[in-house]
Amino acid sequence: MPADTYRHRGMRRALVEELRRKGIRDERVLQAVGTVPRHLFFETAFEPHAYQDKAFPIGEGQTISQPYTVAYQTELLQVRPGERVLEIGTGSGYQCCVLLELTPHVFSIEYNQVLFERTARRLATLHRPAHLFCGDGSLGLPQHAPFDKILVTAGSPTLPRPLLRQLRVGGALVIPVGDEQTQRMMRVVRESEEEFSRQVLEEFRFVPLLGQAGWGK
Ligand code: SAM
Repeated sequence: MPADTYRHRGMRRALVEELRRKGIRDERVLQAVGTVPRHLFFETAFEPHAYQDKAFPIGEGQTISQPYTVAYQTELLQVRPGERVLEIGTGSGYQCCVLLELTPHVFSIEYNQVLFERTARRLATLHRPAHLFCGDGSLGLPQHAPFDKILVTAGSPTLPRPLLRQLRVGGALVIPVGDEQTQRMMRVVRESEEEFSRQVLEEFRFVPLLGQAGWGK
């Protein structure tokens, strides 16, 4: 198991205080960020910067999201213990491990085969038992639906219908929606079989959601 030192824990505490100052209020989310060793999700060149509130490259043209973004999306998701959560865009596996601090039932799907394999090895080494899949997450994971919560960590042109259909009634989808430059965070709740309510929130900038119900490609 790679090292998580006193110095790393100190930097994590400082990051948690920074997120608190930036408006994150949910103590369970702050505790999760304070627990997951973000430096273990980095390629070595960027590892010394792991506790800055910034996004960094993780290879394959992809990024590990900024901690504020991870905390913001996780707070919006309002995960309760025991809920089944689906994440679209596993990337480094960091957000997935933050979710695992809140519920043991985390499913995560990554489109890029290289990232999928690297992250599956990483989470096995860290003994973080998420259910990981490689494929087009814009279509969700119908064989494991319904989900209480669905989190999309890439920018989508629309609300993907397959994801709406895989939400349990009462469940919520958190997803950035917009063009390829900027997106608005949306929280969509399935109020009944046919009815959905939506909140449109802050602006963000994510890498694109690829695949059939995303930007294609
Ligand atoms: N959550 C990640 C983390 O904690 O490191 C960061 C996610 S990164 C901002 C977005 C990820 O979404 C990339 O790894 C990208 O390959 C993935 N992605 C893009 N389109 C996808 C799709 N249709 N299905 C699954 N993953 C997708």
